[in-house]
Amino acid sequence: MPDKLTKKYWDEGELVAVLVPRPLATPLDYFAPAEGVGIGQLVEVQLGNRYEIGLVWGSGQSRINPSKIKQISKILDAAPVSRCMRAFIEQAAAYTLTPLPLMFRLVSRAPGIRDPRPQVNMISMTGRMPENLTPARKKVVEYFIGNNHQPVPKSKLRQRAGVSSSVINGLIKAGTLTSELVLVDQTYPAFDPSRKGFELTAEQDAAAEELRQGVRSKEFSTTLLKGVTGSGKTEVYLEAVAEALRAGRQILVLVPEIALTTEFISRVSERFGSKPGEWHSEIGTGERRRLWRATGDGTVQLVVGARSALFLPFKDLGLIVVDEEHDPSYKQEDTIRYNARDMAVLRASLCNAHVILASATPSLESWKNAQSGKYNRVNLPVRAGALEMPEIIIIDLKNAQLGKGKWIAPALAHAVHETLAQNRQAMLFLNRRGYAPLTVCRACGLQLGCNECDSRLVEHRFSNRLMCHQCGYSMPVPTVCPGCGEAEQLSAIGPGVERLGQEATELFPNARIEILSSDYSGSLTEFRHRLESVRQGNTDIIVGTQIIAKGHNFPHLGLVGAVDADLGLHGTDLRAAERTFQLMTQVAGRAGRTEHAQRGVAFLQTWQPEHPVIAAIVSGNDEEFWEAEAAERRVAGAPPYGRFAAIILTGPKAPDIERLGRKMVTEAHELLQIGAQIYGPAPAPVARVRGSYRYRLLVKAERRAPLQRALRVWQDQFEIPSNIHLTIDIDPQSFM
Ligand code: ADP
Ligand code: ZN
Repeated sequence: MPDKLTKKYWDEGELVAVLVPRPLATPLDYFAPAEGVGIGQLVEVQLGNRYEIGLVWGSGQSRINPSKIKQISKILDAAPVSRCMRAFIEQAAAYTLTPLPLMFRLVSRAPGIRDPRPQVNMISMTGRMPENLTPARKKVVEYFIGNNHQPVPKSKLRQRAGVSSSVINGLIKAGTLTSELVLVDQTYPAFDPSRKGFELTAEQDAAAEELRQGVRSKEFSTTLLKGVTGSGKTEVYLEAVAEALRAGRQILVLVPEIALTTEFISRVSERFGSKPGEWHSEIGTGERRRLWRATGDGTVQLVVGARSALFLPFKDLGLIVVDEEHDPSYKQEDTIRYNARDMAVLRASLCNAHVILASATPSLESWKNAQSGKYNRVNLPVRAGALEMPEIIIIDLKNAQLGKGKWIAPALAHAVHETLAQNRQAMLFLNRRGYAPLTVCRACGLQLGCNECDSRLVEHRFSNRLMCHQCGYSMPVPTVCPGCGEAEQLSAIGPGVERLGQEATELFPNARIEILSSDYSGSLTEFRHRLESVRQGNTDIIVGTQIIAKGHNFPHLGLVGAVDADLGLHGTDLRAAERTFQLMTQVAGRAGRTEHAQRGVAFLQTWQPEHPVIAAIVSGNDEEFWEAEAAERRVAGAPPYGRFAAIILTGPKAPDIERLGRKMVTEAHELLQIGAQIYGPAPAPVARVRGSYRYRLLVKAERRAPLQRALRVWQDQFEIPSNIHLTIDIDPQSFM
């Protein structure tokens, strides 16, 4: 269809295919409007009795009754979506097996972009005084004098001066005031890439130069920036950012945790003299609208954001940085399942951009790509300046003499005391929210679980509730056992961070203790204040979950204690060893990040000190660990040496789901043809969520097999009953 490929403009009455962000399989057909329409233009179309945003995608090819086809209602005042962005939408959809219209939903998720650019009536004072200075008019004049003659929106002037519109209008007529319509959304300030950062060390400078070259080439390439915690990775990739700023191209920096944007924003402001655009779920609607438009117009050069920022319609993206690229939170597990790290590489490949994947503990996927030469690799093996890596000390829990219901070994407690005596901070790490993961009745043995999920209820003592971490259900902690009715028999089993905080309070009664987990983040602003307060040294002991393990810089932190280093090693997750290695290395790496007479130290409490993961953390020989991990995966044909796709079937009746799952396995001709193996159906480890039963199938293929195409053909042959939901997860990260 050469027509579909080459045609870029449609005159009135021609048939156009338009993507709308609805759960549809394909674009919809509309007639071009009177003024004609171009490819990539954002439009408004009527769908049923509603209006929707649409993206002009190509020529329509409808064979349905033309009288049923509507005309595009209007063309929106927004920059057309670029060719490479459209290619990205298309290829991301194909990769993740997502229908195009749903993929477009990720792109168009911004408020107010269908409306005209909002304007405001700005009033200024000319200096010419009215002949008749009534008391009301005098208030207006005094307002301007009191505010240095700054222009002000009319509505604000009415409020502040306490006058009516007619007073202001009268003054405009008299020539004292002028009014002007201006756009509400102001432009983003420019950056100054010539400002100097730190004096880089020779190693840092060499690394920075490689990254700069990647940007300068204006060709697609990917670099793995592997540097130990505190080696100056951020400092170094800011050099690449400076290069892209100089080249006039746009830059996106992805961070895995919203709270980490704060630190990055202040570093960018210090370095380049202004703040970057900020994009994530906590950003207000006005700012989202402004940033979305500015990325398309090309008037914002640098954006920092969460994974969804990858779908902003950048006009000319020249550099993408994925910070802490190994972080599991880059994988989105909602309706559309994608890994932002992989999608960043895809996007860059379509727009001649450079990608920097930065981490102290890269994902095995990226490590392998660097080994095979697919990615460049730049190393920063030592910390900046005279800083040493923290000393790692193992506490073998088999001889630690822990008291009953206690989790902090005496040796760790002793070291915390010493650290506090030196006026430094200590961090106690446990990757478990709440007070206790399990509540049991001592009288009847009942374990309190969620009614809707195969999941235990977790006690949260601060809020005094039991919570299901699967579905969010919560209830007050009962005073009697819901099973046998006995009073005062419910017993909390095992530790969560709240309980750990309680033990710390008992052990260190004079210490200022801050418990940080996603439960306490309340508002983002509040959470940021807490982090800032910790950074400034207003806390002695930080007790927290993985939310404090990621990328933070706490200058006063001298000691880290991981209370249960084995926690992530239980279970059968493919990546259990990799994840534990990454998390423990990251947590330990928070210690000793500024110069101090005493080197930083990290304690790992473990039941199995001889475990290869623990041994690798102690020896610091991470390359050896990656080699061993890679060898195991290669033998097993597991990612990154083979490819997985998970099929998740959910619905109200377990036997029906299982039957469908079996049928899919027996009729998997297309999958067998590409050499794939198919396992299951098996109940998911969490076999019921929100009252729905869940079964999983796993498809395993060779790396180069055309997996997506086979999956699509295979999936299409089954009639899925309306009460069963099928999800395909390409490159699954979670097997729950
Ligand atoms: P990473 O991202 O690798 O953890 P950062 O870029 O955050 O490392 O640097 C760690 C700390 O060292 C920061 O406080 C940073 O300001 C400091 N730092 C890094 N490079 C230098 C340098 N060349 N000179 C002085 N301080 C540096
Ligand atoms: Zn539940």
